[in-house]
Amino acid sequence: MAHNFNAGPAVLARAVLERAQAELLDYQGRGMSILEMSHRSKEYEAINASAEARFKALLGLGEGYRVLFMQGGASGQFALIPLNFLPAGAAADYIVTGVWGEKAVEEARLVGQARVAASSAAGGFRGLPPVGEIELSARPAYVHITTNETIQGVQWHELPALGDAPLIADMSSDIMSRPFDAARFAMIYAGAQKNIGPAGVTAVLIRDSLLAQGRGDLPAMLRYSTFAKNSSLYNTPPVFAVYMLDLCLAWIQDRGGLPAMAEHNARKAAHVYTAIDRSGGFYRGHAEPAARSLMNVTFRLPDEALERQFVAEAQAAGMVGLAGHRSVGGIRASLYNALPEESCLALAAFMEEFLRKNG
Ligand code: PMP
Repeated sequence: MAHNFNAGPAVLARAVLERAQAELLDYQGRGMSILEMSHRSKEYEAINASAEARFKALLGLGEGYRVLFMQGGASGQFALIPLNFLPAGAAADYIVTGVWGEKAVEEARLVGQARVAASSAAGGFRGLPPVGEIELSARPAYVHITTNETIQGVQWHELPALGDAPLIADMSSDIMSRPFDAARFAMIYAGAQKNIGPAGVTAVLIRDSLLAQGRGDLPAMLRYSTFAKNSSLYNTPPVFAVYMLDLCLAWIQDRGGLPAMAEHNARKAAHVYTAIDRSGGFYRGHAEPAARSLMNVTFRLPDEALERQFVAEAQAAGMVGLAGHRSVGGIRASLYNALPEESCLALAAFMEEFLRKNG
């Protein structure tokens, strides 16, 4: 198997793939695969309900929240959030720590008044804005934050106090990777394709009280309430993606839930950051140490020719997906939940060897 450092779609647990393979031709003795069944079948309804229940159980939430399975990616959410929750005359506050937060606020500006309440752009998105510099509006419609910036490799490890307005988080690249106080959030959304499943489904956790505030005169597919009222079955959902998501959540539960994921992920990231820190400046981490992402490790080499050589030689050694995002270059190693620790040990050893030969 390849050591898969892809940023998303990304590595899936082998046990999950094997289960999907075993069930593919004949799902629960029905003589057909889940791909071929009605989304109104009792089999699919059970998967849909299971995925919602597991999602809430992993986050320690019960009544008062819904989990919706939508399409259009996290990028679609950038537009749907202001369409539903940013009425004329109100302002929404965005905390911007990288490219994805920038995209979110740009989309919101097409809809209404969206403000940047804090940004780390001036420092090249290497760190997090100092808590004292977050300037919230008097009464924002909501506050939006990106908990992990996938391209820059910058992650909030402790979320600052952000007032009483509904707090909305893009957790596309760190959902279910560590325990956190989910009850603080009015809404959390994530494209599944990094930590919790394949591409094609976007998971949205939303508090009932926020749902109730959503604008009622939008087309049905743009309203969160449509998905909530119909348990994500208003129209044909991405059935196979939701099935895979349910298997991935079950795998996380079986492994010990979010505390176990956090412990595993911290150990994995430490192998790679240690290789950076021991390189005497040959590898230069992009993120300031306090903001280092445990999911996406971003770093540079002395020049771009060496970076290309690094990616090519790593690939030849069975390590794929290490080129940085096309917008920033450099190297990025994505270490999502399903990536085994062995892959991080292999990468750290490769980094040491590459330094010895080229440093
Ligand atoms: N937000 C974050 C933090 C992301 O990492 C990504 C995808 N890399 C997106 C949003 C966009 O997600 P999608 O491709 O599902 O629209």
